[in-house]
Parts: sequence; C-alpha cells; structure tokens
Amino acid sequence: MICDNCKSREAVVLQSHTRRKLCKDCFIEDIRKRIETEARKQGIINANKILLAVSGGKDSLVLADALSQFVNPSKLIAFNINEGIRGYNRDDQVKKLEDYLRDLGIELIKSGFRQEVGFSLDEMVSASLKKGLKVSACTFCGGFRRKLINEAGIKVSADYVATGHNLDDEAQTIIINLIRGDLLRLIRFGDKPLRVSSKFVMRVKPLRKIYEWETTMYANLKGFEFQEVECPYISQKPTLRAKVRELLYKLEERKPGTLLKIIEQFDEISQKLKNEYKLSSELPTCIICGEPTTPGRAVCKNCELLIRSGLMPQEYQKYLPIS
Ligand SMILES: [Zn+2]
Ligand SMILES: [Zn+2]
Repeated sequence: MICDNCKSREAVVLQSHTRRKLCKDCFIEDIRKRIETEARKQGIINANKILLAVSGGKDSLVLADALSQFVNPSKLIAFNINEGIRGYNRDDQVKKLEDYLRDLGIELIKSGFRQEVGFSLDEMVSASLKKGLKVSACTFCGGFRRKLINEAGIKVSADYVATGHNLDDEAQTIIINLIRGDLLRLIRFGDKPLRVSSKFVMRVKPLRKIYEWETTMYANLKGFEFQEVECPYISQKPTLRAKVRELLYKLEERKPGTLLKIIEQFDEISQKLKNEYKLSSELPTCIICGEPTTPGRAVCKNCELLIRSGLMPQEYQKYLPIS
C-alpha cells in the first residue's frame, strides 16, 4: 500500500475521517500542520511565554513535540504536577519526561498538591470519605490542578497556558455542557480563547482538533515512552462522561469525521454567541483564597471542598451555599 500523499513511501496509517492511507512521515506532518493551524487561530504564535501543562501522558508529549517545531522552545516552559496519588506519581516517569523535554530545549518546572495546597490528593480523598462526602477524587483533582496550573502561568508571566486536550475530550465536554445547560461554560468554549477574569491566564488547547487515536499513533510512531500507568481513581470518573464518550464513538464509527464536525460547528455557534452576549464584568473572587469564583458564590469550589472535608477551619462553614 502506497501513501496517498507522497505516492512514494509505504502507507502505515488509515486516516478514516479523510479516507487517506498515509506513510509515517506524511501522517506526522499532517498532525503537526493541523496543530500549528489551530495554535495560530488561538493566537499563541505571537506569545512571549507559553506554559505547557504536561502530565507525561501521550497527549502532553505530542503537545510539547509539535509546538517546539514552530514556536521557539525558549518561549515554552513545561509544568508538571505531583498530585500525591500512591503508585501513580512516580519519580522515574518525571525523570523521563524531564530528559525528553530537555532534548527539545524546553525547561520543566514542578509542583505538587502537598506543597501548594497542603494536602496530597490521597489525603483529601480520605478526609472527604471520613466526612461522608460523596465527591469523586476527579473533582478534587481537576479543581486543584486548574488552580495550580493558573498560578504557575502567572508566576512565569505566561501569556497562555496550553493543555493537551484532544478532539475526543473536547467533543465530550461540549455535549456534557449542552446536557447540563451550562451556558456560561458553552460560551467560553470555542477556538478563540475568552478571558473571563484578569486573574486567569488565557487557556488554549492546540490539540483540540486531533483525534485521540491520532495522538496515540503520533506518540507510537515517534517512539515516545509515555506514562501508561492508569490512575487508581479511574473508576471514580464521572459516569456521564463515560456514557457520552461511548455514544460519540458509536457515531464516529458509523460516520468517520463526526466528532470533528461537532467541534467545527460548535466553534461557529460559539463565535456568534460571543458576539451577541456581553459577558458581564469580572468574575467575583473567593473570600478565602482570592481565586475567581462563579457569580453568586462567596467561596470557590476548591475551598468549599476543603471545608466540607474538614481540612479547613470550620468557622468558614457559614460562607458555604446550602447544599
Ligand atoms: Zn507519504
Ligand atoms: Zn477559594
């Protein structure tokens, strides 16, 4: 089988949504170009500093590898978080990640939940269980990761924070926000980042139009050794996302290109919404930690979780919304 693009090398990949058979080089070049197109649209080409949130998983390696080919690596700084999950956060994995980034010319900075929040994820989860809270580990993890990533972005004066979310993640999130009727989140979505608070560094997702199977293939073809250990809290992942994921895969299987179509159409809608809705001024800030919070809330979700888990002084209880 010969590559449909260069017509000379042996094809190794069938790209179902374009119905093309591609060789290794043409496939990698196709992904890189699509990432560059998206990155340009999101405006990161003119940035002075971009913080890359890297877990060490395949998507974060593809993100670093692809960006470093069209952005000067001295403008990139990678950031890794140790969540404090026993058996999952491993020093040898971080070392590998660090070596790999060094080869690309990207510096890695590190932080952790214990160091920044005062508690590891394992400690937060066990404290919340003792209090009988029905909150999944992923809720704690997601909220505090966002906070740490944003703080790191501010610390290094980054113009943008880039994450490795892929097309599958993005399509799922769009559908979930639709189901929940979360208009604010929906408007914030789309290919043009929107600043909702001066305390947030703008977030961009250069891989948002790359299928997950494509990032896996890119990582494998390039011979990356990535973190494959599954998080022990995986079984606590929200069930709605799992269901949406399954449904979207069925649609994609029946008609390849469906997920990409969902994102492209959504971007158009979101642009119209952004033009039409004047997003009301700044988000309010949390009275405890000073981070932005949703309108009508005195305390942010992260602080609320710590108070309800008994990890913050109980006199703060009075600020919590009635649950
Ligand atoms: Zn080719
Ligand atoms: Zn707070």
